Amino acid sequence: MNKRIVNVGNVRIGDGKVSIQSMTNTKTSDVDATIAQIKQLEQVGCQLVRCSVPDEQSAEALKEIIANVDVPIIADIHFSHKLAIMSADAGVSKIRINPGNIGGAEKAKYLADYLKERGIALRIGVNGGSLDAAHKSKPLAVAMRDSALEYVSVLEKCNFYDIVISAKSSDVKTMIETYRLIAAACDYPLHLGVTEAGLYHTGVVKSAIGIGALLCEDIGDTVRVSLSDDPVKEVEAAKDILKACGKYDKPYCEIISCPTCARTNIQVKALAEQVEKMCADVAKPLKIAVMGCVVNGIGESQGANLGVAGGKEKSAIFVDGEYVRTVNNEDILTELRKNIEEYQS
Ligand code: SF4
Repeated sequence: MNKRIVNVGNVRIGDGKVSIQSMTNTKTSDVDATIAQIKQLEQVGCQLVRCSVPDEQSAEALKEIIANVDVPIIADIHFSHKLAIMSADAGVSKIRINPGNIGGAEKAKYLADYLKERGIALRIGVNGGSLDAAHKSKPLAVAMRDSALEYVSVLEKCNFYDIVISAKSSDVKTMIETYRLIAAACDYPLHLGVTEAGLYHTGVVKSAIGIGALLCEDIGDTVRVSLSDDPVKEVEAAKDILKACGKYDKPYCEIISCPTCARTNIQVKALAEQVEKMCADVAKPLKIAVMGCVVNGIGESQGANLGVAGGKEKSAIFVDGEYVRTVNNEDILTELRKNIEEYQS
């Protein structure tokens, strides 16, 4: 099904690229702290940033925040159509609010018209933990789909179509099932996430499974990894998920390395970390292998553009699966750098 494209500032959600978003955890009313955090997020590649707007002070702060950052800002609002209007006036590019929860059809229509006139998109966010009573008897994924579609129909009745949908659950299987159902039922772009995913390690694993499974089925247009941690880490994790699913749209070096075993001759972990650091800014679509032994190294890293297979004192450098030369172990990094620079795909 072709997607509708929803413009959120300079980001086109639904155009085939998957954008990365995160959310500030500063007080939005603390303008300086919020700007500083958004700039950190921009630096690591965040393309959309959401800020909570729990009160009028926060809504008023948005104007100055928006004037000082480059990334489009999304206002996260619960229940209050007044805060949504104030955020729209402040210049946000999207509002996350549930139109069914803002006090009736009249207010929903007023808000939809207000946003439409200003070209501001809206995200409907259904959450497994807060479903209307009308849907509670259904299986959870079906209930979440129906709830999302109900909110969509409120907006469609107002002739408003710049809609992005999310239907997050903290249960990964429910989340996957819900998004599959929604993707089959409508053509609005989808914002993927596992909600309340937890602390860093567990949260990244859950998000990688939930978001990753859907991206591999070409479901999902923008992602947020939710962690009880620094939002910068959310963006880094989201990038890694996109890369692993083949959805990252910029050229980059992928480092693969062996798990090491009794045959290992070189410091694989330390060397792979050095190579990763060395390649962090290399904008070439390269797969670079760091393998611990010559016996299996070249064979096991098939598909790598170049790499090293460790020997006791000297190691083998290979390019496109073919041995090219032997170098002293202390020269591996220099040799790899040279090969990376020279490699022409
Ligand atoms: S590449 Fe060599 S050292 Fe690494 S895991 Fe395989 S056999 Fe062991």
